[in-house]
Amino acid sequence: MNYTAEIVAVGTELLLGNVANTDAQYISQGLSELGINVFFHSVVGDNPERLSSAIEIAKGRADIIITTGGLGPTLDDLTKETVAGCFGRKLELHKPTIERIMSFFERIGIEPTKNNERQAWLPERSVVLENDWGTAPGCAFEHGGKHVIMLPGPPHECQSMWDNCASPYLRKLSDAAIVSRKVKVFGMGEAVVEEKLRHLMDNANPTIAPYVSNAEVMLRVTAKAANEAQASALTEPFVEMIRDTLGDVVYGVDVDSLEKYVVDMLAAESLHLAVAESCTGGLLTKRITDIPGASNVFDGGICAYSNKVKSAILGVDANVIDTMGAVSSHVALAMAEGVRRTVNTDIGIGITGIAGPDGGTDEKPVGTVFVAISTADRQKCLHLKLGVDRRLIRTMAVNYALDLIRRYMLGKLDAM
Ligand code: ATP
Repeated sequence: MNYTAEIVAVGTELLLGNVANTDAQYISQGLSELGINVFFHSVVGDNPERLSSAIEIAKGRADIIITTGGLGPTLDDLTKETVAGCFGRKLELHKPTIERIMSFFERIGIEPTKNNERQAWLPERSVVLENDWGTAPGCAFEHGGKHVIMLPGPPHECQSMWDNCASPYLRKLSDAAIVSRKVKVFGMGEAVVEEKLRHLMDNANPTIAPYVSNAEVMLRVTAKAANEAQASALTEPFVEMIRDTLGDVVYGVDVDSLEKYVVDMLAAESLHLAVAESCTGGLLTKRITDIPGASNVFDGGICAYSNKVKSAILGVDANVIDTMGAVSSHVALAMAEGVRRTVNTDIGIGITGIAGPDGGTDEKPVGTVFVAISTADRQKCLHLKLGVDRRLIRTMAVNYALDLIRRYMLGKLDAM
């Protein structure tokens, strides 16, 4: 059966624009990996009448209704009673959940308030989705052919419960297995990728779909078959065809991100890294240190915004800055080498550029960025033109820096 799903996000803060609906984004991606079509997202405030009407509409057009938010202990957390009411169900007290909540509070050393008990009232005859990441459990039930799943609002709780409870629950509904592979690409735009792979894009099983995020392209290869092994076998030749066609701009399959790939690779080779950032102001440092375990390979980052810091801390020759300009390949290379020597590490990265909106000239317009790598045996600097959008310029500069490290480690620096 081809299921359709609707996500109903509950929370006035979403309607006011205070919080972006990232839960729906995450769940939609997960549903698409399960081969479940999502035709509608709705957002509704913490209001029982309007939530009831959103659920009645969803009932009429989806097989699976997934709500997020409103499961907490406070009076505006109305999702369970309202949704249960739409299906003629009462709430009942789930004793094991009370015990879980009490032991959670004991563990963190906080006295629970009386209203915490509200979270243990769940729709009768539902499957409890235990919350190992907070207090409010989720739940799931089937009623008249419709499947209802309720998840908490805080993103780390919602996403963990989706991954560990809701997604496996939905997987069991289907008699087919679905396997998705993510081919990650950096250094080739979406249009070029699509043109090169046009002959594969119309394939029915597996399907191949491109997505762009964080200035990278991701190709999702999704196959459906009677069991997981067969579905997986269907994806393999297509993943290989994509690799063969695109070449070394493919940096990995089922890898989370360029930074994760680089951190793992540095760890595997026992190499250490230090970075000197001007126009990215610490963004490369942030992205690397977002990865758990980065401290095994990352020695540190220097945010060298002013010329004074470039010279005083990194040892960049002030005359070079004066004659070549702070935004130049000479300075980027000197920053990379300077940070490598100062920190006494294996790999140094230097980034300098004009992120805009001001500061551009005819010779060096906004978007001009130099990204350099320095090691004991190699040096290389990229001269990039990254457009006019400040956020994108900085993101792309960091991506290129990570890609420089990747290519150095693969012995492919000369191909850039
Ligand atoms: P809690 O126990 O924290 O009350 P809850 O399930 O009742 O959990 P809400 O109170 O609705 O969740 O939301 C808690 C917070 O989670 C919100 O203030 C918001 O920051 C975040 N949040 C809620 N819904 C979403 C969503 N759809 N996308 C992203 N963040 C969300």
